[in-house]
Amino acid sequence: MKKKLIVANWKMNPTTLKQAEGIVKRYKDVSNLVVCPPFVFLNSIKLNKVQLGAQNCFWLNEGSFTGEVSPAMLKSIGCKYVILGHFERRSIFKEDNKTINLKVKACLKSNLNVILCISELKQLKKSLDGIERLNKVIIAYEPAWAIGTGKACSASLAEKKRLLIKELFPSCRVLYGGSVNEDNYLDYNNFDGLLVGELSLKKEFNSIL
Ligand code: PEP
Repeated sequence: MKKKLIVANWKMNPTTLKQAEGIVKRYKDVSNLVVCPPFVFLNSIKLNKVQLGAQNCFWLNEGSFTGEVSPAMLKSIGCKYVILGHFERRSIFKEDNKTINLKVKACLKSNLNVILCISELKQLKKSLDGIERLNKVIIAYEPAWAIGTGKACSASLAEKKRLLIKELFPSCRVLYGGSVNEDNYLDYNNFDGLLVGELSLKKEFNSIL
């Protein structure tokens, strides 16, 4: 899938830096790939053309917020992208659209590109309320039931959702995410790219780059 943006979301994997380095070494060295490892590996893995992204961040740049990581910190170590509003953050950590909106604003202020995940279209307007720099926002459509389940969205339903998102936010690029694999990735060829979880940790990932 040439020139499409491919985002590798490692989630909370792998366990060691050595393993993380091994995964990155396997990747084709292409500039349309964004790798999003856990925070602890962000500053250690060596990249050439592949770009760096984070899986989350806080909405303020410093202060008494134990355990949080700020947009300014991410920027300072060379991160270009941040995933926000992932389904797992919404469902496990109870992040709501209001919180995600604060994060989107803070990341844009730090000149980071935002990959905003939504599983329902109704999450879009509130998450992007008051955002002006929409050209730096990439929307990832990820149906909740397709994430990590092996049950990808049908090409026709995904296309229907893509068109609806484009109608609402024409200047945003739109990615598909949810059980993408080497056999189904071409089903989403109308999208501007893919957000990939499990497959991005495997050697087969290169075949979709
Ligand atoms: C994801 O993490 O956003 C994702 C889509 O995961 P998977 O590809 O494993 O379904």
